[in-house]
Amino acid sequence: MKTAKIRSQTGLLIAALIFVAIGAGVVFGAQRLIADAQWVSHTNQVIGRLDELEARLRDTESAQRGYLITGNADYLADYRNAAAQMPAVHQALTRLLADNPSQAVRYSVLDSQIKLRTQQMQRTLQAYANGGLSAAQVVVDEEVMDVSNAIRNQKAQMVAVERGLLTQRAGSTESSADLLRAIALLGIPLGLGVIGGVYLLLVREVRRRAVAESASLDANTQLHAGMARLKRNGADLRALSRYGSMLQSCIEPGEALQLTSRMLSTLLPGTGGTIYRMRNSQDHAEAMARWGEHAAASADMVSPEQCWALRRGQPQIVENEGMRCAHIDGSDGTPVTACIPLSAQGVQLGFVYLSDETSAFLARMDIVEAAAEQLSMALSNLYLQERLRLQSIREPLTGLFNRRYLEEAMGRELSRCTRRGLPLSLMMLDLDRFKAFNDVHGHAGGDALLAAFGQLLQDQTRGEDIACRYGGEEFTLILPETDLNTAMQRAHAISVGVEALHVQYLGRELPKVTVSIGVAGFPGDGNTTDALLRAADEALYRAKRNGRNRIEQSDAAIRA
Ligand code: GH3
Ligand code: MG
Ligand code: MG
Repeated sequence: MKTAKIRSQTGLLIAALIFVAIGAGVVFGAQRLIADAQWVSHTNQVIGRLDELEARLRDTESAQRGYLITGNADYLADYRNAAAQMPAVHQALTRLLADNPSQAVRYSVLDSQIKLRTQQMQRTLQAYANGGLSAAQVVVDEEVMDVSNAIRNQKAQMVAVERGLLTQRAGSTESSADLLRAIALLGIPLGLGVIGGVYLLLVREVRRRAVAESASLDANTQLHAGMARLKRNGADLRALSRYGSMLQSCIEPGEALQLTSRMLSTLLPGTGGTIYRMRNSQDHAEAMARWGEHAAASADMVSPEQCWALRRGQPQIVENEGMRCAHIDGSDGTPVTACIPLSAQGVQLGFVYLSDETSAFLARMDIVEAAAEQLSMALSNLYLQERLRLQSIREPLTGLFNRRYLEEAMGRELSRCTRRGLPLSLMMLDLDRFKAFNDVHGHAGGDALLAAFGQLLQDQTRGEDIACRYGGEEFTLILPETDLNTAMQRAHAISVGVEALHVQYLGRELPKVTVSIGVAGFPGDGNTTDALLRAADEALYRAKRNGRNRIEQSDAAIRA
């Protein structure tokens, strides 16, 4: 860049010098031409004046001769006239030859010869005036011939010198013209060539600069993008570390899921997301938290076979055509979807599902995966805590949940089923005439039966059901996502199970017992724990009143 500048400046300088030289050459050549012309005219003037001087001398001679021959006074007047003109010519010649000493010397010789000749003529005329033609003829001596010849020779010599000068000046004029021609033929094309070169150099420089400018613009854009990326990465990392520390403060899995959904919705604006939690039974993953708008819907319940991420234990990203998981509704356009598995210590905990119209969010998958890893660890810890807590909320005789847990679980399951628009059923079970059983077989015998009944309840429940010992010989069974009809069937199954129950105590089999069951359901019997418990209790009371070993539905269920 610097060299190009120097080069173009040097080029311009050279071009300027060439043109200055051309200008100087032209001025010099022109001046030489003018000077030569002046010299030529000067020389011509000198020659002209010499010719004129000779002519005037001849005029005086011929007028004098005429006068001598004819005696006519007109000739004498002509003679005087011509002689009178000679000093002016003499003066002009003296002036013209002032700058040429050698010619001036020659001229002074010529002048003295002419003066001599004039004196001769003067003397002859004097003689003629005094003694007539014969006297005049005497005066005309041989000298006249010599002087005349000398004058002719001297003048011819001077003219020859002047002609020599003319020839010289013609040569100088020629060389001046040659110089001007050379300037025109060589200097101007050379100058133009240099200017053209500079022009090309500048054009190249301008082009190079344009390229450099666009390159620097590109670099600038890249720098900005890089800085933005760095800034974003920095912000993401800060968000991730804040998220990590907040995860550690979560006291239950739901909180961790909410926190994660908030974090991911901020991290991936415009991308829809769902977090699935694997059920304890490991047979289904259930949608627990959602954010944004999905470009492709995904089922609420996902079996492990339906999700490649769960099957392979690796993120499954589908941009266009690809192995789209079966739980994703890919019928609408070509959404970009990602399933990121959540697992810790080899146990599947669920997965995060993301979908968007564009693949922009994939640029931040590393952060998402880091968040998923943190979430997995947090969930694993929280599930462990949950399990430990479950142990504390179990009742030791039967291994079933205690009443405190029943209320907590009811609250949670009710709001979940409300959210999903799913039914929920509740059973109240009470062993018939248990007081009497106790009286006969002792409290310990009663305990053995209670334990066996607890086991039966547990055997008969699904993973999502929650069996509780409500108190004494009363039990409660929560059946989420189960309608009343199904609940009634389940109640019958339990009733049959109780009848078939064989309980060994102190080496002998205890007599059979029966159970009365009241069944209530959400939403028919209300949407609070109290309302549902009351409705089930009323149904149970009716079963007792109607003869025990019965199953009764709540009033609302019967009406329905
Ligand atoms: P029904 O329910 O059919 O009306 O008759 P019931 O005899 O079962 O009536 P009630 O509910 O009044 O009696 C409950 C009895 O259950 C009282 C008590 O002896 C017995 N019971 C309560 N808790 C325990 C317990 O933890 N262990 C044992 N062995 N018996 C208990
Ligand atoms: Mg009872
Ligand atoms: Mg009772």
